[in-house]
Formats: sequence, structure tokens, C-alpha cells
Amino acid sequence: MHLKPSTKSKRSCNKLVQSEFDCVIVGAGFVGAALGLGLASCGLKVAVLDHLPPPAQPEHDPRGLALAPSTVSLLSRLQVWPALQAHATPIETVHVTHHNHFGSLRLRHRELGVPALGYVCPAPLLQASLAGALQAAGITVNWSSRLLATHATAAANELHIETSGTRAHWTTALLVGADGIASGVRRLLGIKVDQRDYGQTSIVANIDVDAPRPHTAYERFTTGGPLALLPLGGRRYVAVRTARTEDVAALSALSEDAYLADLNQRFGSCLGAFTQLGTRRTFALVQQRARELHRPRAVLIGNAANTLHPNAAQGLNLGFRDVTALLKVLTTARTNGADLGDALVLAEYASARAPDHRATSRLTDGLARTFGIEHWAVGVLRSTALIALDRVVPLKRALLRQVIGNRK
Ligand SMILES: Cc1cc2nc3c(=O)[nH]c(=O)nc-3n(C[C@H](O)[C@H](O)[C@H](O)COP(=O)(O)OP(=O)(O)OC[C@H]3O[C@@H](n4cnc5c(N)ncnc54)[C@H](O)[C@@H]3O)c2cc1C
Repeated sequence: MHLKPSTKSKRSCNKLVQSEFDCVIVGAGFVGAALGLGLASCGLKVAVLDHLPPPAQPEHDPRGLALAPSTVSLLSRLQVWPALQAHATPIETVHVTHHNHFGSLRLRHRELGVPALGYVCPAPLLQASLAGALQAAGITVNWSSRLLATHATAAANELHIETSGTRAHWTTALLVGADGIASGVRRLLGIKVDQRDYGQTSIVANIDVDAPRPHTAYERFTTGGPLALLPLGGRRYVAVRTARTEDVAALSALSEDAYLADLNQRFGSCLGAFTQLGTRRTFALVQQRARELHRPRAVLIGNAANTLHPNAAQGLNLGFRDVTALLKVLTTARTNGADLGDALVLAEYASARAPDHRATSRLTDGLARTFGIEHWAVGVLRSTALIALDRVVPLKRALLRQVIGNRK
């Protein structure tokens, strides 16, 4: 087992390794890693654990994640952005259309006076940069580790951890569940979720296009689900094709040429012919929201708290805004000499996050459901709504702010 060097560790008579932390984060994904970095930079004693083995060869992830300006601010503060920026493609325009219907919507960066609406970053690069920064900050991720039990007392949260068959006892002021959609922390805390299964699956792959339009991302609502094309630079794009789950086996079995032709036919000709299909990977889509965000000395962030439909590229950006808000309340608590696991501190975090969680999940859920109805009259209404959004400036600005995570 690896523990942070500054950790007070000793062997107790029952041979359990004892360790004390300010904060234990379960989940070394994007959100858990970012929180670990932020807390360590404030001088807190942090431990991060993940149930996966050390990523010798990370699983291939073809996604390009659209990072909102709020995410770029956090990554800059964590000093991860300067190295990533060279590999991230700015999005200046988002073009929204509806297959087989009139009307379209163009969201442009200059309408909000921002340098870009967001940046597309290859997912493995973001994960590797965060992992590298954790290592550079001296935070060892405890891989192959599971939280077996948690017991909050007035003084601390007592955690039972297992790492590759070895058990340990950790105490921490605060336990953070950043362990994704099937959060074990959430289950141990007995927090229930509300879930909506969209019956949809996204097939993600990288492609080349013949006639790229730099810095423009596309969202096309089609029968079965949206098709998004995000620019990776040059001719390369990430194609996220969402389909009804029952159709996915057949789509995945298509030859590369047949798959590209189907994609091209759905998208249209504005980027020319599609070629060079990369590995396809599938993601089942649900919306899941935790009914509570905190329990004594424990809090949920990221996908453990809210998993969203990816139609508006909001999930990770929402999770990173959780990180920013939690860093703020915890650093204030620390400055004021307060207990990091104090119920008032965690309640402040939860109430600060509630409006964003509600609004963002409504946006993605509303898009998934409205564009999922296959009736001609609803199609006309949707097209009319797209035109109205495109022309009514205050409406468009409000939507833009929501999309880029700027709620002021
Ligand atoms: C197709 C698709 C495209 C997307 N595109 C975008 C986009 O463009 N922009 C955007 O903002 N969002 C996007 N998202 C959403 C984004 O991927 C998620 O919001 C993000 O991955 C959540 O990060 P996380 O760290 O909270 O959870 P995860 O990425 O799921 O990480 C959870 C971590 O916890 C670990 N873990 C799990 N269970 C346990 C356990 N029991 N014990 C210990 N560790 C555990 C896992 O190994 C993992 O390391 C997309 C999602 C999909 C499906």
C-alpha cells in the first residue's frame, strides 16, 4: 500500500495500518483527481484511492471532452491547463440542426464576448495530465483499493480500506465520494438515487472529414438520438452517434465503410466525406441524480452525485464545478479553523450546488426527451423553437451561458 509520506502511520496491535487524513477521496477519475490536486495545493493531507489496478495501459477512450470555460479556469488554477492547451481545440461556434426538419441554431463565442465556447480535449490526455500532476504533487493514488466501511463520529470518519487483500484503518475529517455512476461510497452511506434510463447508447469513434471547418462543433438531432461532431484539429473529429440501445449491436457490427456511410448520411454533406474510422466504443446513457449530497463527514461529487445525458457535453463540466465549490467551502473552513467535516460546511456546499445541478440536469434531460419524440407536429415545434432561440437574443444568451457554465 502506498501512503502519502507526511501521513502518520503506525501498526496497531490488530496489525491494521492506521492513517490520518484531512480528506479521503474515493475515485481517481477526472473529478476525484482534480479535487485531490486542489486540496493538496492548499496544504491539506489528502489520500486518493481507486478500485482499479494501476493503469499500466489505460483503456482506449476515443472521446474528446468539450471543456467549458469554467473547467479551463479550474484546470489553470491546478496548473494542468498550460500543458493541455496545446492539444485542446477551441470551439468558436456550435451549430445545432435537426435531421429532416427546417430550422437551425448557431451559438457563437463572440455573442458572449468570450475567446471560445469551450475546448475539445482528448479524454486520455486529460486523465494522464491529472494523474501526472497528482504524482508531481506527491499524492500517491492507492490503486486496487476499496472502501469496505465508513463510520462517522463527532471526531472523525473511520474508514476500513482493503488494498489487494490487505486491510487498513484510516481516519479522516471528510470522506468524498468521487467514484462515478455506481458509487460505492453512495451505497455505503445509504443515499438513494433517481434514475432515468434513456434506452440509448452512444457509439464514440474518431473520424477524418474531407472538408473540415475549424473551431466549429456540430450537434444534429436525429431519429434515435443526437449525433455530435467535435473538432480535434485538422481533419480529425470525434463522432458521438447516439442510437436506441436495441440498434447498437447492428451498428457496431457494420463494416468501417458502412458505418462511415451511415454517419455521413445522417450528418449531411457540409464537412464532405467521412473517412478513417477509429476504434468504436459504446456508452449506455442514463440520467442519475443522488437524492442527497452529504451525510455526516461525507459528501458526493461528480458522476457519483449527478450523471447526465452527454447531449450538451455538461457532465464533466458540472463535476468540475462541484470541485471548485467544494474547494471554496473547505478552504474557507480551514482558514476559519473549522472542522472540514462539519455538517454546516457540507450543507453550505450542497445548497451552493443545488441550483446548478437542477438547471443542468433539466437542460440535458429536456433535450434528450424533447428531441426523442418522433411525431411530425413535435418536429415542427422543435424546428420553430430552434429558429426562435437563434433569433431572440436574450433567450440565446441565456442558453449560451448555461452551455458554457456561466450562470451569471
Ligand atoms: C459518450 C460521452 C461523452 C461525454 N462527453 C462529455 C463532454 O464532452 N463534456 C463533459 O463535460 N462531459 C462529458 N461526458 C461526461 C463525463 O464523461 C463524466 O461526467 C465524467 O467522466 C465524470 O467524472 P467522474 O470523475 O465524476 O467519474 P468517472 O469518470 O466515472 O470516474 C470515477 C472513478 O472512480 C473509480 N471507482 C468507481 N467505483 C469505485 C469504487 N467502488 N471504489 C473505488 N473507486 C471506484 C473509477 O475507477 C474511476 O476512476 C461524456 C460522457 C459520455 C458517456
